[in-house]
Amino acid sequence: MTPSGTINRIALLFAMDAEGTPIAEALTLGDPEPLHAASPARVRRGMVGDVDVVHCIHGTDPTHGVDRIGTEAAALTSWLMLEHVQPDLLVNAGTCGGFEARGGAIGDVIVAQSAVLYHDHRVPLEGFAQHSEGRFVPLEAAAVARLLGAASGPISSGSSIDVTHDELAFFTREGVLAKDMEAAAIASVCQDLGVPVMHVKAVTDLVDHPEPAHEVFLRNLASTTEVLCNRMVQLVRWIGEGRTLDDFAN
Ligand code: SAH
Repeated sequence: MTPSGTINRIALLFAMDAEGTPIAEALTLGDPEPLHAASPARVRRGMVGDVDVVHCIHGTDPTHGVDRIGTEAAALTSWLMLEHVQPDLLVNAGTCGGFEARGGAIGDVIVAQSAVLYHDHRVPLEGFAQHSEGRFVPLEAAAVARLLGAASGPISSGSSIDVTHDELAFFTREGVLAKDMEAAAIASVCQDLGVPVMHVKAVTDLVDHPEPAHEVFLRNLASTTEVLCNRMVQLVRWIGEGRTLDDFAN
């Protein structure tokens, strides 16, 4: 019997090609293969130290020719991948919007801790209101945050890159450090399938800054994905040295 928390296989999940491909190359994983005949998602595999790594990118939207970002592709891809691969841990990595008001800056790395939320599911009905906020619990990962020099705190997902007044108030109330478009959907699937999950996000733009997020995003995408790549390679190699899930916490 293997001790509990042993990590033999990890899955890495990325929404965008620009986020995931540099990491697959740095870890010298195998060539991309389809995850499923009906999905544009691509997987690459390889051993890093003692750990079997399965790397997956959502893939390209067949109609519009862009990365399949967002919660729908995230939920479908993560469900398909987890069923197929059965990893001991899923690490969702990518870019995010950060918050100047809570000390955030372009290029910062954030590890989700305490809560993974939805900020744009507004259903003011008892029970459904709480359900709509998600509030999933990521793996305790204080030691990983220290290792990566990352901030840690709540992160929140929604279906838009811009932001409303109500959403800004929600972020302040919850102390959110990172805003993205996938994490909560992935966390929900991981909860259903009983797979521990971590989210590692690097800041491309600042949500509470007057400049439109999508312009800042494009300007900082290359430098931020380089930071993300370095940290993810560091994390995967650390896991490959032989860690248990307990090592992530303290
Ligand atoms: N591909 C588009 C932009 C996509 S930005 C382009 O090139 O213009 C959205 C992607 O980056 C999502 O996958 C999301 O998870 C992340 N992201 C980065 N900054 C974000 C923000 N401020 N709000 C929401 N998602 C953000």
